[in-house]
Amino acid sequence: MIENGVTRRAFLEGGGGVTAASLALMASPAAALLVARGVLGAVGQPMTNGVEFPATPPRRKRSDSVGFAVVGLGDYALKQMMPRFAQTERAHIAALVSGNPEKLGRVSDAYGVPKDARYSYESFAKIASDKRVDAVYIVLPSGLHADWTAKAFAAGKHVLCEKPMALSSAECDRMIAASRRANRKLMIAYRSHFEPHNLEAMELMARNAAGQLRVLRTEQSYRMGPTSPDDNWRVNRALAGGGPLEDLGIYGLQAALYLTRQMPESISATSFRPTGDPRFSEIFASVTSQWRFPSGAVAQLATSYDSSGINFVHVRGTTGALIMDPATNYSGQKMTLDGNEHRVFKSGDPDIQFSRQLDHFVDAIRDGARIRTPGEMGLRDLRLIEAIYVSAAAGRTVKLNSDGTMRG
Ligand code: NAD
Repeated sequence: MIENGVTRRAFLEGGGGVTAASLALMASPAAALLVARGVLGAVGQPMTNGVEFPATPPRRKRSDSVGFAVVGLGDYALKQMMPRFAQTERAHIAALVSGNPEKLGRVSDAYGVPKDARYSYESFAKIASDKRVDAVYIVLPSGLHADWTAKAFAAGKHVLCEKPMALSSAECDRMIAASRRANRKLMIAYRSHFEPHNLEAMELMARNAAGQLRVLRTEQSYRMGPTSPDDNWRVNRALAGGGPLEDLGIYGLQAALYLTRQMPESISATSFRPTGDPRFSEIFASVTSQWRFPSGAVAQLATSYDSSGINFVHVRGTTGALIMDPATNYSGQKMTLDGNEHRVFKSGDPDIQFSRQLDHFVDAIRDGARIRTPGEMGLRDLRLIEAIYVSAAAGRTVKLNSDGTMRG
């Protein structure tokens, strides 16, 4: 399952500074001092023990800090999100949920999670009476998001769910309905909405910094190593849907929407699945689509699990172009505006996107702030993904209503 991980991680990390920095700190006298002083190792804060922790010391938590239960201790949870709780003001890891008792014990020890806050998938329902847990963060394979969101709402908790929200719009509808029934918040973990370059790109496009937007092109791809649906959930249709579009292409789909600030009125798509390759016995190798917007702008989106790594967004307007390359990685974002002038942007450290996302959800839970990436956004995106697959399968252009549902 993991053998493709390095390639995918390299794609997303664009250099992997966090891991290197974390390891450097683990070996440093400063880290030893922090541990000795008890700064690292408090409840919800990571300690060394073969588990990574962030390069910055944990911030002091406010008294209204929200307790999260993290469900699924895989790559993204362990290496990216869990260490970032230390950078937030009022979010902490209160409980962990895993199907692997050895890993559950090791990671819980590292984060100081008490024994009675360690849950298996089978014992998860008991979390309903665990007052230390306010919210559940779902970091499981995408095909499990809908069921686990329902379980978390049934337990009376708020839900932060990883992208893609689910594998169908029907599942998204059910998740939103469950959130309303439970009167609990639902947020989709679209981290680019909290990343400085992407936020500045949204602002630039909103004030027509490249003129009237005409053409947007984007691609998110990497080449997956040999694997099969039994070994790797990312190539298993029940857990991954069509594959690269839900996993990577969704970043380009999102960018096309938040940079144009419009919904497409039609989509025409093509997909490719080679025969005889176990990686693609159940999912697509590549998916491309062309979108037309009501303004007359057009977009071209590509994503693949079988071409070398790339992650860019190019937006061309009537007076210039915005180039984001890499556009939505974990780190290393680069952004320039070409036109009357050439501007290179240093919008801020992309690393902040992870903790800001957690802070934002906490603001929604504690202060009633409007969620920037709600379930309705995840639903909208799944409708567009469905339209892409329908168009590709039928070999025809699909016309869309303004909410992303297909016309006719
Ligand atoms: P992973 O394979 O590294 O981890 C998945 C975890 O789920 C593992 O701990 C595994 O044991 C557990 N699991 C439980 N039931 C399983 C089952 N039936 N089959 C397989 N694994 C099962 O995957 P990941 O990269 O951590 O991805 C998890 C989720 O996070 C996905 O929804 C993915 O789209 C999302 N993700 C988001 C980002 C981002 O940048 N926002 C990046 C990577 C992954």
